[in-house]
Amino acid sequence: MKKKDLINRLKSFNFPKNILDAFEKVDRSFFVTQNLKEEAYKDIPLPIGHNQTISQPYTIAFMLMLLEVRDGQKILEIGSGSGYVLSLLAEMNKNGEIYGVEKIKELAENSKEKLKKYKNVKVVQGDALNELQNENFDRIIASASFSELPQKIVNNQLKIKGILVAPVVSSIVVIKKGSRNKVEEYPGFSFVPIV
Ligand code: SAH
Repeated sequence: MKKKDLINRLKSFNFPKNILDAFEKVDRSFFVTQNLKEEAYKDIPLPIGHNQTISQPYTIAFMLMLLEVRDGQKILEIGSGSGYVLSLLAEMNKNGEIYGVEKIKELAENSKEKLKKYKNVKVVQGDALNELQNENFDRIIASASFSELPQKIVNNQLKIKGILVAPVVSSIVVIKKGSRNKVEEYPGFSFVPIV
C-alpha cells in the first residue's frame, strides 16, 4: 500500500479535510525504523521500539476527528512516542501550540530531533501524570490507554469547553468539559497501556 492508497482509504470514511491534508503532508515512513518503511502506509499499527506502537492510521484519524482540532489551539498529546501524531497535529494547528509528553527517554529524544522543523511543537520527557501540571489545554489526546476515566487530567489540565480524547481500557472516550461534563464512549479498540 502506497501513501496515495492510504489517503484514499481514509477519504472513503469521510474524515474531515484538515485531517486528510495532514495525513497527506506527513511521512509516516519517517517515524518508523528502516525495516518497516515498506509497511508505513498500511492501515495497521507499527512498532516504534520499547514495546510501543504507532496506532493504525484509521484509529488516529478517528481520534483526531473526535478531538475537533481548530487552528490556534493549545493541544497536549499524552504518550507522544515517535512524534508521528504530534506532526499530524502540527500540520492541523500551525498557529497553535502543541505539547507532547513521552516517558521513554530515547523516544522523546528521537522525536525532538524529528520534529525540529515544527517551531510550535514541544516534547517534554517524563511521566504525563507529573509533567505540565500547571498548563491548561484546549485539547488533550492520549495515545496510551488509561485503566479508568482520567478525571484528574480533565479537572486540572483541560480548559472549560475543552475536549479530551483518550483510550480507557479498550474504548475511546471523549470528555467535553463544561458545567457538567459530557462523556461519549466508542468501544472496540486496542491500545498499549499507560505505564
Ligand atoms: N502517538 C504515538 C504513539 C505512542 S504509543 C506516536 O505517534 O508514535 C504510546 C506511548 O505512550 C509510548 O511511547 C509510551 O512510552 C507512552 N507512555 C505510556 N505511559 C506514559 C506516561 N505515564 N507518561 C508519558 N508517556 C507514556
